[in-house]
Amino acid sequence: MKDTYKAVEVSEPGVLRVVERQFSEPRAGQVRIRVEACGICHTDAATVMGVYPGLTLPRVLGHEVIGRIEPLGAGVSRWKIGHRVGVGLIAGEDGMCEPCRRGDIVNCQNPVVSGVTVDGGYAEVMIAEARAITSVPDQLTSAEAAPLLCAGITTYNALRNAGRGGDLVAVQGIGGIGHLGVQFARQLGFHTVAIGRGGEEKLAKDLGAHVYIDTAVD
Ligand SMILES: [Zn+2]
Ligand SMILES: [Zn+2]
Repeated sequence: MKDTYKAVEVSEPGVLRVVERQFSEPRAGQVRIRVEACGICHTDAATVMGVYPGLTLPRVLGHEVIGRIEPLGAGVSRWKIGHRVGVGLIAGEDGMCEPCRRGDIVNCQNPVVSGVTVDGGYAEVMIAEARAITSVPDQLTSAEAAPLLCAGITTYNALRNAGRGGDLVAVQGIGGIGHLGVQFARQLGFHTVAIGRGGEEKLAKDLGAHVYIDTAVD
């Protein structure tokens, strides 16, 4: 096996390059995954432009990652080699800061952030914290599952905290996030209104919207 892998890194602000990197072994509590798919998110632009807080360059971006576990680091018992798993943006908490100690780990003050503080999934392989990866059901292809790790969590979590089935929900914009929001809203039982500009009615209805509002029409 060759001892390097391909990755796309941000070398300096505004510069993306395909590079060969040396494999590194997972440390204690980590796994290395063989990436099968990685979504593209608008937040990636903050890495490309070098403006994400805490970012250091060079950095491999990508935080909607699906892959199969290769080697396991020391102490990792829950996962096995070959498991297909996902990695999102917030990919590890320190467990020690005040929010963590209150159980609010999503607001960790020292988080591992894929594609920002550690290398992400625009690569053939990626190192991930075992405590932050998630199992991926066989029914989903890797390409289908990848956007769920950021755009999907964002919309699903907002909707499940916003109300309950039968409520009226409007989803503004039928783009990378909105097209998932419409599907979740419908499947969660909301009366779902999609709001877009122009001829997105067929897409919105196909995704499950009850009503489509075209804001480009007076
Ligand atoms: Zn994202
Ligand atoms: Zn913390």
